[in-house]
Amino acid sequence: MDMTTRHLISDAANAFLAAPKRMLIGADWVDAADGAQLDVRNPATGEVFAQVPAGKAADVDRAVRAARAAFEEGPWPAMSPVQRERLLLALADKVEANAQELAELESLDNGKSVMLARHVDMAMAVDFLRYMAGWATKIEGATHDVSVPFIPQAKFFAWTRREPVGVVGAIIPWNFPLLMAAWKIGPALAAGCTVVLKPAEETPLTALRLGQLILEAGIPPGVVNIVTGLGETAGAALASHPGVAKIAFTGSTAVGKLVQRAAIENMTRVSLELGGKSPVIVLDDADPAQAAVGAAQAIFFNQGQVCTAGSRLYVQKKLFDKVVSELASIANAMKLGPGLDPASELGPLVSEVQRDRVCSYIDSGVGQGAKVASGGGRSGEKGYFVKPTVLVDVRQDMRVVQEEIFGPVVVALPYDDIDEAVRLANDTPYGLGASIWSNDLARVHRMIPRIKAGTVWVNCHSMLDASLPFGGFKQSGIGREMGRAALDMFTETKSVMMAV
Ligand code: NAD
Repeated sequence: MDMTTRHLISDAANAFLAAPKRMLIGADWVDAADGAQLDVRNPATGEVFAQVPAGKAADVDRAVRAARAAFEEGPWPAMSPVQRERLLLALADKVEANAQELAELESLDNGKSVMLARHVDMAMAVDFLRYMAGWATKIEGATHDVSVPFIPQAKFFAWTRREPVGVVGAIIPWNFPLLMAAWKIGPALAAGCTVVLKPAEETPLTALRLGQLILEAGIPPGVVNIVTGLGETAGAALASHPGVAKIAFTGSTAVGKLVQRAAIENMTRVSLELGGKSPVIVLDDADPAQAAVGAAQAIFFNQGQVCTAGSRLYVQKKLFDKVVSELASIANAMKLGPGLDPASELGPLVSEVQRDRVCSYIDSGVGQGAKVASGGGRSGEKGYFVKPTVLVDVRQDMRVVQEEIFGPVVVALPYDDIDEAVRLANDTPYGLGASIWSNDLARVHRMIPRIKAGTVWVNCHSMLDASLPFGGFKQSGIGREMGRAALDMFTETKSVMMAV
């Protein structure tokens, strides 16, 4: 790592980067069984600044065995709910106490702004772990008065228990690396499960630092195991491992389908948080300037690498030109730069592959007749920067309107009336989020039930809270994370019937 970057980060982050990176299996920090390593690149420069083990099937197998031992024989199942709650709270405290270091590592690894990493990713991870810690003591069953028709004179006492599902394989993406790890580990541990976590190959660093904090917090070895490696090797081995009871996956819809196929053989439980193409719908009573600011935040936050990114902007005809020209001015004024520079408003994309993928979508849109209202391609020679881009003159059937681009690119389309807005908003294979911008309560209330999406925001976008279930309709996924609903996915219901 160059000297300038070294000076921009804390001593703690420098110390973590200077030490060799190893995977956490049981109580041991280990290399991959075959000794292979993966390069980790700084997206702002393209330079390799760290290496992590390239775990494969043999490493995943070892990690699953460690997690099974901790689940079946180790201290975890024997602990009381309140002890699990305290350990999760201790972990939240550790993340909070090390938030600056974690944010710097996230910024270097992913490209995102260190300020946002601190105040969004780390703050949400801490909140989420604390919220989930509270559920450890609130998992409950029910008693049932039963009537068995063929022996009416008999008496029974019946009840249900919720029991941890077992070893959870958690596979996560690169856009919010530490936060996604917390989304999986929090409910899994609260429910009494043990975990094998596979971070994305592009962004493995904060997961490894989290592993250290997990042990420091007093969570017993083997309860959380962390295997770094490629998706097609380590990820695929985890998804198909017979010792894994449940896969909690966040990532693209294409890989989510592979994961679900792999899980079928062992009837592994699967929850999938997948891609999106979320609409931002501006009604004609909205303030155009406010709507443009909202639309800009909806698409450009985290460089557009957000599953709920507002990547389709539908504006009622009367306001279309005004909103789009305001949005284009905001985009044109954004300062691109490395995440470690406090002045930069838009960082690089995570990788060269992602930058080229996003640019090829822009080219495909332009090739099909779209016009560029702002941006339009990569920026600079070094690093993976893409200019914030607004495309107009697009048609609903174009790839740029139908497919998830996962970058700072928004398509803007006008509509005539609410029926048309709802039809266009629902017209993609995805259904993760949507936002409506209006103060006309009656129209908004009538629209909400018609939008096929797991979350609808009104006059805001991509706002999440630990207590509110989050997940997708249609090809955006299966199951809900966050809120009480998250616990359902990490527990099995056992019915008990006792003759009395
Ligand atoms: P990805 O699907 O390429 O990778 C996600 C994870 O799956 C990574 O850890 C990867 O190594 C692993 N993987 C890849 N191939 C695999 C295989 N064959 N078997 C098992 N695991 C495999 O996704 P990405 O590019 O890292 O992330 C971006 C995607 O994630 C976007 O589509 C985005 O919308 C989605 N996402 C969804 C949510 C949500 O909550 N719905 C949140 C964040 C990101």
